[in-house]
Amino acid sequence: SSESASGASPARVSALRAEAEALYLGTRPKTRAAAGATAHLYDGVPMHWMSDWSTPVPLIVDRAEGARLTDIDGHAYEDFCLGDTAALFGHSPPALVEALARQIPRGLASMLPTPDAGLVGDLLAARFGLDLWQIATTASDANRFALRAARAATGRPRILVFDGAYHGAVDETFVELSPAGLPRNKPSLVGEPRDLTALTRIVPFNDLAAVEAALADGTVACVITEPVLTNCAMVLPEPGFHAGLRELCRRHGTLLLIDETHTLSTAPGGYTRLHGLEPDLLVIGKAIAGGVPTAVWGMSEAVAARFKAAKAEAADGHSGIGTTLSGSPLQLAALRATLEAVATPEAYACMNALADRMEAGLARVIAAASLPWHVARCGARVEVVRAPVPCRNGGEAKHAHFPALEAAVHLALLVRGVLISPFHDMMLASPATSEAQVDRLVEATGEVVGRLA
Ligand code: PMP
Repeated sequence: SSESASGASPARVSALRAEAEALYLGTRPKTRAAAGATAHLYDGVPMHWMSDWSTPVPLIVDRAEGARLTDIDGHAYEDFCLGDTAALFGHSPPALVEALARQIPRGLASMLPTPDAGLVGDLLAARFGLDLWQIATTASDANRFALRAARAATGRPRILVFDGAYHGAVDETFVELSPAGLPRNKPSLVGEPRDLTALTRIVPFNDLAAVEAALADGTVACVITEPVLTNCAMVLPEPGFHAGLRELCRRHGTLLLIDETHTLSTAPGGYTRLHGLEPDLLVIGKAIAGGVPTAVWGMSEAVAARFKAAKAEAADGHSGIGTTLSGSPLQLAALRATLEAVATPEAYACMNALADRMEAGLARVIAAASLPWHVARCGARVEVVRAPVPCRNGGEAKHAHFPALEAAVHLALLVRGVLISPFHDMMLASPATSEAQVDRLVEATGEVVGRLA
């Protein structure tokens, strides 16, 4: 079967899964009872992705502190998922808690700026290098708004995305290349009657010739990309890819939108600042306000001027950009605290040192089990990739995805008190994570992969 291409025998995967499932259910009476009593949530969860974890019934979290979760049955978990990056700096960091406690009694939603607003703009510009900023509530929204701004600024209809990328609930990015290399809507989409490829071009990551061909007719407003693809395992840019992409966009009058939502794990100014990328637009969500629902999008001065001119020409009324709770007092307080006191250079030094330890430890136990996998890395983000060599694009990364194996590994780790990201094998190091927690992750992974080899 295709699962056996992972290097693990399907029989061992099933045995590991069955044992973990029995242990999970056998030691969690309150969790089981809660699942049985939840009648009025679709799929039994407040957001249906929560039923995509590997557990037979949802894990219900009583508390999340630092880099540890405790469930309602009292089991503790070393948390390396960290809310799929939203808690990259640890759960409820003290400086954020204090800032929220100050703001909460002073109003949550006025649709007007607080004194923190201008300061937040200055902090974002200084850290990420773009001139003009707006606040949104999710990274999905921020990407949608930035794409709209790019189209308004250029007057062009199309966008370009890379195969295997994920940018949130942004309809027009829900496309992929079929196994035959043809663009199409993602087959898993529901409720999408439109052919999304009409206005979205899609090419493989790390393929500058394909980018050039897609931009040549001058109809593409914007290329949207993560610096490193982090949602299809992990695909790193080849040397020269980003420089070439920047150059091609300039040559064809196409704007470059970098989505740093996950690669904020790299450094205080993201991958963009560390590697000197020069995006025209930048989006960051999830961890940017420490877990308070917030995202930001920035524009260069030149793009902002063109956007402003387009907006001035449009009829009065709704621009299609913005949501009511965006830029709220709570978001501004959270952004300020995160930028000033949480996502500091010292925090990143600590996260990167822990990720070094994690990367080396995981590589060691995988090699000891002789599995044909490797470890990829983007700052504090570490990924076990189920392929012997790095993937160059989303198509290759799809072949390194083995759902039954991954679910069995995740559940086997979970019953050993270690939580990793549910959708692939991603692990994050936060400033609240300890070396002992990293060692526990490595030890538990060693035990689990030892069962598969
Ligand atoms: N951009 C990237 C790179 C992401 O990984 C995600 C979510 N995984 C998003 C945007 C969307 O974030 P949200 O679901 O918080 O809107």
